[in-house]
Amino acid sequence: MVHALEQQVLVLNRLWQAVNVCSVRRALTLLFEGHAQVVFGHSDGDFKTYNFSEWRDFSPPHSHADETVGTISFRIRVPRVILLMVFDRLPKKEVKFTRANIFERDKNTCQYCGKVFDKRDLNLDHVLPRDKGGLTTWENIVCSCIACNTRKGNRLAHQAGMHLIKKPVRPKWRPFVNITFDGQRHESWRHFVDLAYWNVELGE
Ligand SMILES: [Zn+2]
Repeated sequence: MVHALEQQVLVLNRLWQAVNVCSVRRALTLLFEGHAQVVFGHSDGDFKTYNFSEWRDFSPPHSHADETVGTISFRIRVPRVILLMVFDRLPKKEVKFTRANIFERDKNTCQYCGKVFDKRDLNLDHVLPRDKGGLTTWENIVCSCIACNTRKGNRLAHQAGMHLIKKPVRPKWRPFVNITFDGQRHESWRHFVDLAYWNVELGE
């Protein structure tokens, strides 16, 4: 069994977007230092936030042992979700420039015809072709279906009478779906994880 202090806590940024996971130990430190608040979902469906002393006072005296951790002077309920009060307390990882993340950015949509395809029916297209100096970067690579890719060939889109449905950019936010879970996901995460999954803002 994972020690209570090593269990995972979901971390939300100031926009209430799920951005990371950390240990209970780290979460309590952030809470104690005033850098984070605990997010607790009440049965009425409302989420309330608690600073350190509010959370300590909220902690019920007879919780299940797995749900609390003891200190010398008090027991505190284990937070499951915290909200960062500051930016950049946790290292922000860049979105890796991978095929999977490009597909994710473009939502499996051909950036020329705007249709959604199965991943295996999509190519990566250099907007400015490589032999014209086009780089393999976030800003110059888009998903393209095979038909559009063939039609565009080695030209610029406008030369083939085509245009991009949107300008390709480097995603600003690391998509939460890429976080590797090495433990179980708590039920209390579901709301934020689902929200993050559907609302991942990869572009501008
Ligand atoms: Zn297409």
